[in-house]
Amino acid sequence: MAVSKVHPASAMLEAIDAGVTLFGENRVQEFERKHAELAAAGVNVAAGEGKPGIEVHLIGHLQSNKTAKAAELFSAVDTVDSLRIAERLNDGAAKLGHKLPVLVEIKLSDEEAKSGFAPESRELEEFFEKVSDLQWLQIRGLMTVPPLDESPETARQCFRRLRQLREAYAARFPQLGFEELSMGMSGDFEIAIEEGSTLVRIGTALFGQREKQA
Ligand SMILES: *Cc1c(COP(=O)(O)O)cnc(C)c1O
Repeated sequence: MAVSKVHPASAMLEAIDAGVTLFGENRVQEFERKHAELAAAGVNVAAGEGKPGIEVHLIGHLQSNKTAKAAELFSAVDTVDSLRIAERLNDGAAKLGHKLPVLVEIKLSDEEAKSGFAPESRELEEFFEKVSDLQWLQIRGLMTVPPLDESPETARQCFRRLRQLREAYAARFPQLGFEELSMGMSGDFEIAIEEGSTLVRIGTALFGQREKQA
């Protein structure tokens, strides 16, 4: 996945010309602007899987007042971190009449700024128990962002932990899909792949350094 956040729509168009078909963006409003620019350039941002065009996933924290917009703009939401957000996305997808693929974000660090379910928490358990009732969502797997300034070994432990959680939850909730493990960024994607990543999220290594986000 090419992470195009902060970079302009023109950078996405260049990447599309080079053959990239899957993008990650971390803000609803930022992508709303770029979505319009891409559409004006004739790019079809597929609203669902299996349709021609590019796919763009939301990989940043989603606030509950932006769920309807997110369901409309993105091909998938990879950062579901509460039942409430899942319910709201489900409502949004129902109104649009198409299923929305989602990943469940797991928090494997103590950092305040990070979001996600605590691993093996009662909350996560309840989430998996109830989410299969949300028929417009399609659970596809797990996602994590390791601690900032990690050592490669810390990152490896996080990735390994996510894979083990996936195995444990897939066995306990066979009605849900757990095929995707979204982990690994520019600085650690090789390690993530060694630990079983199915989806690496690459920004800097493809597009260069980003300006700071406001
Ligand atoms: C920005 C971002 C990335 C890409 O990070 P790079 O280090 O630039 O590759 C990946 N995942 C998430 C969730 C991000 O916010």
